Amino acid sequence: MARFAAGLPGYFRSTITADEAAAIVRRGMERRGEAFLELVERAVFGSPASPYRALLAHAGCELGDIKSLVAAEGVEGALERLHRDGVYVTFEEFKGRAPARRGSQTFFFRDRDFDNPWVGAHFSGSSSGSSGRPTRLRVSLAHAAQQAPHWALWFAAHGVLASPLIFWTPFHAGMASRQLLCAKFGQRAVKWFTMASGGSLKDRAHSVLITLMVRRAGRLPAPEPAPLDEPWPVAEYLLRLLDQDTRPAVNTSPSAAVRIALAAQDRSRSLTGVTFLLGAEPLTRARKQTIESSGARAVPCYGFSEGGGVGAQCPAPREDDEVHVFLDAFAVIAHNRPAGDGSAVNAYLLTSLRPAVAKIMLNAEIGDFGFLEARRCGCTWDTLGWTTHLHTIRSFDKLTGEGVTFVGADLFRLLEEVLPRQFGGSVGDYQLLEEQDARGLPRYVIVVSPSVGAVDEAALREVFLEHLRRLRGWSHYALMADMWRQAGILQVRRAQPQATAQGKVFPFRTLAVR
Ligand SMILES: [Zn+2]
Repeated sequence: MARFAAGLPGYFRSTITADEAAAIVRRGMERRGEAFLELVERAVFGSPASPYRALLAHAGCELGDIKSLVAAEGVEGALERLHRDGVYVTFEEFKGRAPARRGSQTFFFRDRDFDNPWVGAHFSGSSSGSSGRPTRLRVSLAHAAQQAPHWALWFAAHGVLASPLIFWTPFHAGMASRQLLCAKFGQRAVKWFTMASGGSLKDRAHSVLITLMVRRAGRLPAPEPAPLDEPWPVAEYLLRLLDQDTRPAVNTSPSAAVRIALAAQDRSRSLTGVTFLLGAEPLTRARKQTIESSGARAVPCYGFSEGGGVGAQCPAPREDDEVHVFLDAFAVIAHNRPAGDGSAVNAYLLTSLRPAVAKIMLNAEIGDFGFLEARRCGCTWDTLGWTTHLHTIRSFDKLTGEGVTFVGADLFRLLEEVLPRQFGGSVGDYQLLEEQDARGLPRYVIVVSPSVGAVDEAALREVFLEHLRRLRGWSHYALMADMWRQAGILQVRRAQPQATAQGKVFPFRTLAVR
């Protein structure tokens, strides 16, 4: 903590311009292969506990083989080859929730086995990303600085480098990291609205302390409560900025942006001139349309808590949520795997090429799938070499409503044991559906089979939220439960739980796996 505090003034003193950001990316692109090999050499072969080292040994693959592969087929070619030889980790294996079986061998990995042994963590933060174990997420000034060039180019491409920047996010220590990375290219937020803060007293105290240190050092605004179900003060603030002839940028989740857009439309006010910089939740067609019908622009990025930003949208997308991958920092290939409902999905396998990441990723799933294509876009990012695009990105094992993520498997016990014990019925009688309404607002529905008989729906919702609050003892889940309660997005529906094509009733079904 002391080291973090000592590093802050220097961090805020040195900033980068958009041109410098582009130069950093170009350099990163030039030495991609080297960066990959350095990471493999240091964090995999140089780290006896690395799960990848065990998988590579099983594949009979030495460092020299990987060097030859990269030289002959490039980074992605090498990764494809390693994947075919069993060198990858599924989302479940990456989280330490399932053993990895390759051929006749079985490996037992824990999620901390994937920690980057070389990164100096300054503080830990609860995160709103896709982390499976957010309380252990490590954030560092180096990681923030490393991500800053990408965000600088994202802001520059959409003309918001000098716009008043507003955050509307949950309150947690991880947000300090986002504020730090924006400050690196001179973007200091003018306002930070917080929709919820949750977790234990200890976690909250920790968040308050981290936030205070960053705020003081960077002269950043104090968090201001603005509950999720009261978006008008946020919209009103944006309208005031528009009246002053500025073009504000808002960093929030897509569904929160939908709420702001609806609040403005309810009062017949236009948000033309506002740019929503969105993340942490899929930008669906319905969400994009609702946001843009207010006059505002909706521009998504894509990332996850352990690795940071993976990609962002340029001004010329073909698909609603399409992003260019930051290829200087990541390599992405895809592989076919079963989703929760038995269907097959094209899951992303990510490899991080940067030294300051919390988790070492070598063909690692992060629970998302979608389209992956190489194409020339014609925008300025093409000239940087960012020619890989992802779109229609969804999660197969994570619920992401309101931009707070949790792993669906953590709900199995609640839906299969806790609810049947308290309200009757058995396994297969309860199911959680992730839905969105026509405007794109998220909705969670606990489906209860009619065979269960009379059920006190209010009590059921309460038991569900209380269980969620205490789940795994993670402050992250407590925060999410608070947000669900605040937004009133949990409903009970009496119907037969939906079975898959294979006739199996899966305890939860995400927006995508339907
Ligand atoms: Zn483009």
